[in-house]
Amino acid sequence: MDEKCFVLGCTSGFDGSKEKFHFFYPKDVKTLYLWLNAIPQKDRKLDESLNSVCHKHFKETDIIKFKTLKSKDGPVIADLDRWILVDGAIPTLSKYDLCKLIQRIIEIAISIISIQY
Ligand SMILES: [Zn+2]
Repeated sequence: MDEKCFVLGCTSGFDGSKEKFHFFYPKDVKTLYLWLNAIPQKDRKLDESLNSVCHKHFKETDIIKFKTLKSKDGPVIADLDRWILVDGAIPTLSKYDLCKLIQRIIEIAISIISIQY
């Protein structure tokens, strides 16, 4: 599946990276709206069917990575192939994202200045 991260400056899903990413989609319109407010993105619009947000932008406590299976010897913890978000999880910009965002703003400011002079 061709999944790419919506967050500005994030390269998850781009450049043929070998790293394993988990992508999440807003589950309803209300969540979509909350996510859009949390991760401002001027160039693109977050779309339920097209864009997703990778696991890097969620708190560890907002992601369910394991499931408990019952076995005859008692419960067994197993990795989930596809991680699940807890209800109400909102992406947050990491320090890395903020650096990229500031870098981008500076680039835009420089390009505006060089047009004027
Ligand atoms: Zn990302």
